[in-house]
Amino acid sequence: MNDDKGRPDLRINGERLVSSIKEMGSIGFDPETGGRTRLALSDADKKGRDLLCRWMHEEGLDVKIDQIGNIFGVREGTDPSELPVMMGSHIDTVRDAGMFDGVYGVFGGLEVIRTLNENKVRTRKPLALAAFTNEEGARFQPDMMGSLFYTGTVGLEELLSSKDENGLTAADELDRIGYRGSGTVRAGRYIELHIEQGPRLYAEGLPIGVVRGIQGLAWWAGEYCGESNHAGSTPMDMRKDALLGVAELAAEAEKLALRLGNGSVATMGKISPKPDIINIIPGKCSFTLDFRQFEKSLFEEGKGEIERLITACAEKRGLKYNFRKVAEAPAVVFDSGMVELAERVSARLGLASKRMVSGASHDAQFLSPFCPTVMIFVPSKDGRSHCPEEWTEAEDLENGCNVLLHSVLELV
Ligand SMILES: [Zn+2]
Repeated sequence: MNDDKGRPDLRINGERLVSSIKEMGSIGFDPETGGRTRLALSDADKKGRDLLCRWMHEEGLDVKIDQIGNIFGVREGTDPSELPVMMGSHIDTVRDAGMFDGVYGVFGGLEVIRTLNENKVRTRKPLALAAFTNEEGARFQPDMMGSLFYTGTVGLEELLSSKDENGLTAADELDRIGYRGSGTVRAGRYIELHIEQGPRLYAEGLPIGVVRGIQGLAWWAGEYCGESNHAGSTPMDMRKDALLGVAELAAEAEKLALRLGNGSVATMGKISPKPDIINIIPGKCSFTLDFRQFEKSLFEEGKGEIERLITACAEKRGLKYNFRKVAEAPAVVFDSGMVELAERVSARLGLASKRMVSGASHDAQFLSPFCPTVMIFVPSKDGRSHCPEEWTEAEDLENGCNVLLHSVLELV
């Protein structure tokens, strides 16, 4: 029952974990696509929430809903003055999603609580399980709505007034599904278990990723202006082709990311030449640029270089240009003590782990400034996510959940 340090040497029930994830995965399931859709505050999201709340009640948790619909379940500790160690993630999905994104973190936390309950383990600090509202942002923007509200990063009124494409507000939809509450639970620590949603762990055959932070992100939108003209009668050396300037910028941005290395990524996701006609030289071309990097100095260098390239690629071809930065979020660095804890626990369980930086955003990044936070990743088959092919093997799900269990046991 106890290991050599007197800690309960428990293991979670992998079959129960997988069957719970599958049951949630059947809600909103579409047999035609093989995916499931539980957009935030939809009927399917309500069904998922109802299932989670039922299971929380069955484990004797004190269930609280806050003003943005975040769901918390609290398992009491023996010392009421302590803040809870919180586990959690989200249960909303994108369209035609896999069954693991978010759900794994919530039901992984539930499985930890079930394991403690069936082994009658009392803890000094309380434990809390959280499901944050609208992490995906597939229906209402901004994404991460629940954690933005929870951490006071964005005000309630602004979030509640967000409208979906049919003009329905988040406030009305929260009321309709019955999940606008008034409770809350403060977190003392936060651990989010999640699938990697990228290819690295799977490719390297590693069971555990310990996430040391989330990379910084900068977005620009801009436009190059040259001259539209006849595609047949304008010689190549007398053109001012805006699209060619943007094409060169795309190639230069790739070179920059490769040169900076260390996980730098640069993407031009949106390019619109005008007039966008087969026999006219594009006189205008608008574009977006997305640059991400975790290390502060490289992030700063990359941002400066991107802006220099936007200018240089236009001037080289005599194009006019304008651009502006439309978003910037600095990297989030998770608490080093929490990172070391997850690594230590993985090693003790005989599971190889690597430190990694998350490429995607998560609720944990907003919790991190408020309480010591870490994320634990498990492999995603072929790095696929946000699609019906999203897959993680049962053994990997079980391993990650055991790392969560023992990390929590060291904290409570
Ligand atoms: Zn997620």
